[in-house]
Amino acid sequence: MKNVLVTGGSRGIGAETVRQFAAAGDRVAFTFHRSETAADELRRETGAFPVRCDVKHSDSVKIAVDKAVSVLGHIDVLVCSAGIADFGLVTDITESRWEEVIDTDLNGVFYCVRHVLPAMISRKSGCIITLGSMWGQTGASCEAAYSAAKAGVIGFTKALAKEVGPSGIRVNCVSPGMIDTEMNSAVSDEAKEAIAGDTPLCRTGRPEEVASVIRFLASDDAGFITGQVTAVNGGFVI
Ligand code: NDP
Repeated sequence: MKNVLVTGGSRGIGAETVRQFAAAGDRVAFTFHRSETAADELRRETGAFPVRCDVKHSDSVKIAVDKAVSVLGHIDVLVCSAGIADFGLVTDITESRWEEVIDTDLNGVFYCVRHVLPAMISRKSGCIITLGSMWGQTGASCEAAYSAAKAGVIGFTKALAKEVGPSGIRVNCVSPGMIDTEMNSAVSDEAKEAIAGDTPLCRTGRPEEVASVIRFLASDDAGFITGQVTAVNGGFVI
């Protein structure tokens, strides 16, 4: 049994990750930001412990991590799923919107790791899983801020894996393709069909298909895997 903290657990991939860890008998805390009702429903469904947190702010993350530790005792597995998307031309992105995307999608990962890592180093054990994106690997037109943030997450994951491997901590990135969650609610049906059409498996993905890979990477079966970017994209990027 593992103690797991999932950020962005109130919806989408994070919520499925909470469900799968809880169903396997692990003890789970998860963060939500705005979706209090969804978080409460997930708590009732799974028994997992919800904590409000804005990953853009280090202080908010520290409070959430402290609350999670007070319930779980310690954290074996950190899954950084909280994130936002952004669509638009570079010439149209305001500086404040650019900062919001980088603060949420990249700095938020750093803040979570920063507040969880010292205890993992002391225990000489731990597992961290970040959520990248195929756009962080290839770049997406009209998603420059998001692509930049996710490329940063991938670089951060690799660097961290090298730094903390000797402390017995594994760090991996799961890099999804287009997954059917609310994050893509602004994407038109035509654009989704075009992506599905360009995907060797001829469809978009489901959040549970990402969550199961996260669970595998957190398991002892993945004990010799660190610093890797595991694509879950139906073959869209090979
Ligand atoms: P959703 O939009 O479904 O869920 C996003 C989650 O992030 C919610 O739980 C939300 O909390 C939380 N969140 C957003 N902003 C903040 C914030 N400032 N502080 C704390 N929590 C926040 O997204 P997905 O589940 O689809 O995405 C999960 C991860 O996977 C993200 O990192 C995303 O970039 C990545 N990903 C997703 C892909 C996809 O196609 N869906 C593709 C590639 C990568 P709340 O609702 O409570 O505000």
